[in-house]
Formats: sequence, structure tokens, C-alpha cells
Amino acid sequence: LPALAVEGLTVVADAGRAGPLPIVRDVSFTVARGARMGLVGESGSGKTMTAMAAMGLLRRPLRITAGSVRLGETDLRALRGRALNRVRGGRIGMIYQDPMRSLNPLHKVGDQISETIRLHTSLNRREAGARVLELLDDVGIADAAAKARAYPHELSGGMRQRVMIAMALSADPEVLICDEPTTALDVTTQRRIVELLVRISREREVAMVMITHDLGVAAGFCDEIAVMYAGRLVEQAPVRELYAAPRHPYTEALLGAACDLTLPLGRPIPTIAGQPPLPGQLASGCSFHPRCPYAQEVCAQQRPALAESGDGGRVACHFALTREEVRHG
Ligand code: SF4
Repeated sequence: LPALAVEGLTVVADAGRAGPLPIVRDVSFTVARGARMGLVGESGSGKTMTAMAAMGLLRRPLRITAGSVRLGETDLRALRGRALNRVRGGRIGMIYQDPMRSLNPLHKVGDQISETIRLHTSLNRREAGARVLELLDDVGIADAAAKARAYPHELSGGMRQRVMIAMALSADPEVLICDEPTTALDVTTQRRIVELLVRISREREVAMVMITHDLGVAAGFCDEIAVMYAGRLVEQAPVRELYAAPRHPYTEALLGAACDLTLPLGRPIPTIAGQPPLPGQLASGCSFHPRCPYAQEVCAQQRPALAESGDGGRVACHFALTREEVRHG
């Protein structure tokens, strides 16, 4: 059983007279225990909304209209109130780009981690205090006792992100969703945080989903990448295959000319000619056709289905395999 299974997830935004606008469209993927998947795309592609929906964190005007999200055998969409809260932040955790979003500036970081531990476990105050030090040590914070007594603003950005990771780990999650966790950090710190997350996923067999617009981070972190465009998953493949031979024109455009794993960290998605479409103005057929250099007549008429691509991946493009043959011909 996969740690996380998202099936046919569909999210709309209720926009008054404009009607429900499609934000996430029929997205399906699974992440095995200890596996790391990247959700990659431009801003507005639906990658963050997919993760928020998976966590049950959507607020009006956003709502899920179809699909399921399973954590092991648990159907997250069937949970409400306290049951959902116990799972969220417990069995499934989330790390944000800005740790200050989750940390309380007025409380010492050790107390905040301790509070999370006590919320999700049966440890008493003293045991939770000892666990805090273990966790801080485990996420590479030297002098854990002193750091536990610090307030968030007394720590560097990288240190705060480590505290967030410690907090997310405190309830022993099965799945960790990381939303651009390194974007606000300098390149050296980014690398260290990515290394830390990879180590954690291996040692604790935590399934991870990394939402990122940074292909360097994705290459260094993921073993599988799912590319989103206009709310849909357009390609998914093991990281090496995807970087070596992208099958979807959008993936190819994201990667630019240098399709290899030597992309430096901090490299953003290159600009692609044209704008990503707004949810209310999606093109007919393949949503990418107005920007696609390979578009043919059929592309504006028929939406390509997401189909197996033969190398353990999936791709949604009428001409994906043809171009693949040409590239290697
Ligand atoms: Fe381009 Fe057509 Fe493939 Fe869409 S289906 S990505 S427009 S070639």
C-alpha cells in the first residue's frame, strides 16, 4: 500500500457569476514509503493547491469536487474536525517556505516543539522535553539545549527551517509535504536542508512530496517528478528519465537546453514564451497548445490523456512518443 495515494483529485474555486473555476483537474499519483516525489510547475500550475487539498487545508472559495486522498488505508476526505486534526500535523506533516508562518514568535522554539509532541503522543512534559533535544540534534542543530531556549527570531533562516522539520517529525509522520522549503534560503543552506530531508526520508522511511519551482532542488531531492500545467499532471517520470529525455514539450521547455542532473541549486524554472493560462481561460484541447512549439491541429481539439510512457512514467501529449523517437534517431 502506498504511503500517500491521490486519485482523481479535482479542486475548483467558486467565483460568483463566473462559476466554479478549475484549479486542480483530475490529478492522480502515489508516493511509496520512503520515496520522494517532486511536484513541479510554474506558479498557478496547481501544485500548491494539490498539496493543500491533500492536507484538507482548502478554504472557501476553494473546494474539492472529486477524487480521494488516502494515507495508507485512511481516507482523508472522510475525516472531519478532531479526527482530521489528529492526522494533520501527526501522520501527515507540512513544511512551508516561511517557517515563521508556523512558529509563534512569542514562544521559545523548544516549548513549541514540546507542545506538538504532547498533542500527538502520550509523553509527559519531562519526556517531551527530552524528545525535543533528541529531535533538534537529529535535524543537525548543535547545542540543542541552548537552541531550544531561543525565540524564533534569534535563529537564522536555515536554523528555523530545521526547527520546523523537527516539529514536523515530532509526531513520527508517514508523509511530509514540503512546500518550497528552501526558496527563502541561500544556496549553501538550501543544499544542507535538501540533504537533511533526503536523510530523514531514508532513515525514517517517510514519504515526501516536494513542491518546488526549482529544478535544481527537485533534481537533488526527488526520485520521481510530476510536472503540472494548468491544474493537470502532464508528465510523471523517475527523475533521471525525466531530466535525460523529457517526453512532454512543457517539461522540455522547463528544463531548457541543459537536460541533465548537473543543474545547480537555485536555478529557477526558465521563462517560457507566453503566459500560463488563468483558470477561467483555459485553451481547448491540450491546455499547453497556445505555447507549444510542436502543436498540431488536433491539439486544439482533443485533450491528450495521461498515458503510460514506457519508462515507468506517464505523459499527456499527442506527439510525445513521436518526438522521443526523433530525438534518439
Ligand atoms: Fe504540444 Fe500537442 Fe503535445 Fe499539447 S498535445 S503538448 S500542444 S504537441
